[in-house]
Amino acid sequence: MKKIMAANWKMFKTHAQGIETATALVDILRNKLPEDREVLVIPPFTLLHGVHNVLQGEPGFFLGAENFYPADQGAFTGEICPEQLRDLGCTYALAGHSERRHIMGEDDAFVGLKVRFGLKQGLRMILCIGEKIAERKAGNVENVLFRQLQKGLEGIDPGVDPETLVVAYEPVWAIGTGEVAGLEEILAVHALVRNKLVQMFPDSGKSIPILYGGSVKPDNCTSIISLDNVDGVLVGGASLAAESFSQIVLA
Ligand code: PEP
Repeated sequence: MKKIMAANWKMFKTHAQGIETATALVDILRNKLPEDREVLVIPPFTLLHGVHNVLQGEPGFFLGAENFYPADQGAFTGEICPEQLRDLGCTYALAGHSERRHIMGEDDAFVGLKVRFGLKQGLRMILCIGEKIAERKAGNVENVLFRQLQKGLEGIDPGVDPETLVVAYEPVWAIGTGEVAGLEEILAVHALVRNKLVQMFPDSGKSIPILYGGSVKPDNCTSIISLDNVDGVLVGGASLAAESFSQIVLA
C-alpha cells in the first residue's frame, strides 16, 4: 500500500500564495517522489482550481477537498457539493476533521452521512477521528474512537473497495499544538483502529489506509511513518511551506 502524505492547508493562503506553494512543492519533489508515496494537497475551496492546474499531469500528486455538503445540488447557499469538487479535479475529501466537529458542531451522524454520500459520488473519503484530552485522561480513547468509526462508517458496504476509504487518527490535543502523540500511543491506537476496521470490513479492513495527524513535522515524521499500521500522515501547520512539507514527504 502506498503511503499517503497529505497536506491540509485549512483556511490559509491567498490564491497567489497557494499557487506559489504548490508550484514549489512540485518543483522540489518532481522525479524524487518514491514509488511507495503519494502526495495529497487539500487546499481551501478558493484554491482548488489553481492548485489542480499545478498538479495536473504530475505523477503521484492528488487533490482533495476540506469539506462538502452531502447533497447533489440545490438551494444550499454557501455550500459546495461533491460533483463540483470532482469537476475541479478532486479525488479525495475529508470528513470529521476535529475543527469541523468541535468548531462547526458537526456530529457523528452528519459525518457518517458525508462519508456515505462522498463515496457514492465517487470521492475517496478520509474519515478523521480523534479523542479530546479529557477523554484520554478519563480512559475513554477506545470508546470514543470506536463510536466515531461505527457512526462515521455506518451503512457502508462490508465489501467496500479499500482504495476508496481512508481513516485518519488525529488526537485533538495534538492538532496545531506542537504536542505530537508518543510513538507508543500512536502504535497502540493504530492497532486498535486496524482491528476495528477488520471487524467491520472482513475482506478489506486490513488494506484501508490509516493516517496519523497531529503536529507532524520534518523531525518527527520518519519515526511515525515507520510504525506498524501507519500508512501515511495528515499534516496541517508543517504543510504550509513547500520546504517543510517536502521534507515530510521524503522522510
Ligand atoms: C490537521 O490539521 O489535520 C493537523 C494535523 O494539523 P497540525 O499538523 O498543524 O497539527
